[in-house]
Amino acid sequence: MIFVHGCFWHGHDCPLFKLPSTRRDFWKAKLERNRERDREVTAILESTGWRILNVWECALKGKEKLGIRMVADLVDQWLREGEGNMDVRGAASADR
Ligand SMILES: [Zn+2]
Repeated sequence: MIFVHGCFWHGHDCPLFKLPSTRRDFWKAKLERNRERDREVTAILESTGWRILNVWECALKGKEKLGIRMVADLVDQWLREGEGNMDVRGAASADR
């Protein structure tokens, strides 16, 4: 299963995420619930045998972007390897 996550909506720990300066408690709770849902969905998918690849917005946008070619290569590599989950994010890192 491949997800493409917006860094703001999923509260990613990267330069593209910044908590809004207004209604901070609202946004904090909302984004924490989004992260919690991500963890729940991941657990359900893993328990039913799915592998998960998260492509983060920062891999494709912003000062730490990898660029579309590198992202495509990482996705291709993940698909061919056939095991484990992967996060493709900015700053030239692909976390396992
Ligand atoms: Zn990000």
